[in-house]
Amino acid sequence: MNTPLDYAQLQQYDAQDALGTKRAAFELPQNTIYLDGNSLGAMPKVAAMRAQQVLVTQWSQDLIKSWNSHSWIDLPSTVGEKIARLIGAAPGQVISCDSTSVNLFKVLSSAMLLQPGRNIVLSQAGNFPTDLYMVEGLASLLGEQNCQLQLVDNSALETALTEQVAVLMLTQVDFRSGRLLNMQRLTQLAQDKGILVIWDLAHSVGALPIELDACNVDFAVGCGYKYLNGGPGAPAFLYAARRHHAQISQPLSGWMGHKTPFSFDKHYEKAPGIMQFLTGTPPVLSMSVLDAALEVFSDVNLAALREKSLALSNCFHQLVLQHSCLNDLQLLTPLNPLQRGSQLAYRHPDAYALCQALIKQGVIVDFRAPDILRLGFTPLYLRFIDIWTAVEILADIVRSGEYQQACYAVRHKVT
Ligand SMILES: *Cc1c(COP(=O)(O)O)cnc(C)c1O
Repeated sequence: MNTPLDYAQLQQYDAQDALGTKRAAFELPQNTIYLDGNSLGAMPKVAAMRAQQVLVTQWSQDLIKSWNSHSWIDLPSTVGEKIARLIGAAPGQVISCDSTSVNLFKVLSSAMLLQPGRNIVLSQAGNFPTDLYMVEGLASLLGEQNCQLQLVDNSALETALTEQVAVLMLTQVDFRSGRLLNMQRLTQLAQDKGILVIWDLAHSVGALPIELDACNVDFAVGCGYKYLNGGPGAPAFLYAARRHHAQISQPLSGWMGHKTPFSFDKHYEKAPGIMQFLTGTPPVLSMSVLDAALEVFSDVNLAALREKSLALSNCFHQLVLQHSCLNDLQLLTPLNPLQRGSQLAYRHPDAYALCQALIKQGVIVDFRAPDILRLGFTPLYLRFIDIWTAVEILADIVRSGEYQQACYAVRHKVT
């Protein structure tokens, strides 16, 4: 172990932090340390201003003219291009729309249709359930002979890449363990076998640099309300590599994905580029808020963001190791920075009660069944001294047995 970390050292890190000024861009409640930006990002101040503007000046005063005069109609691509910069995508390949689940259905269907003669969708056994449910839904529609889900552990992924596999569908950072997969390597190995690759970026976009074009990824989807801070239920996004645009078709063929929506043709004819993935009318309120939230990223260097994210989680874990009362917390996240996203996950038999007791004391974390305490590190608004305070509070709760009170065992609907 390194020399013990102390408060003065963490203050020093804050003083040297090039991203330190970004905290002022967020509205954060008093006496709260927010370690859950991986579930719902904090609110950027510009987001509130934009919401106000869209309601009070655009909708109320300019009414339907706003589709043109305030470029509401362009929001899916405006937002898409802002996200493109964060995921290493050249223009014309990313749009914002729908939810991650729905977008996954669209790209998955497109990919399967490109792979006649192959029927397997290979994924991680521990993938986020909605991703797997969407495959099950598509399989029930297409029939087993055309679509079948195969699940393996992370360690068995590479050997499972065979010529029967149509699509490799992976989440880059595991929502439970925080394990980061090697996008470049897995994409290449799969494509060597003729497999198309879909990456879910829900827990990586906005937290670490991503290079979809450079890794030659086929399709990707991701979330607007986690590290992108787009607000509760913010629209998601999808990426489709330009080389596929001409051949693909997606089944949710709504009018916004039509070549000329306002010609009101009787038959569907898909738009030529990425717009073919649109389905219905964009949710202007929430997409405007996401658009504003992305402005916070406009001058952020993603390498610096990543460096701070790793430094924050390193400090957290080092401080945990410095408290003998926290010995029962078993780290599930790989410590190797090449295999670690922007979160830490600890196993503890009373993880749920610990989580509730922490929240009561102003340290907001979350719990994932059956026994995982999950902490997200968002470099844009967390300070190193917050990490110190969070671990001190955690140690107090464990040392005093505070978390064993009955009130902390009551299960809420959302954990
Ligand atoms: C958060 C998350 C989702 C969320 O999907 P929605 O349809 O937007 O609710 C999907 N996949 C993964 C891997 C996630 O972490």
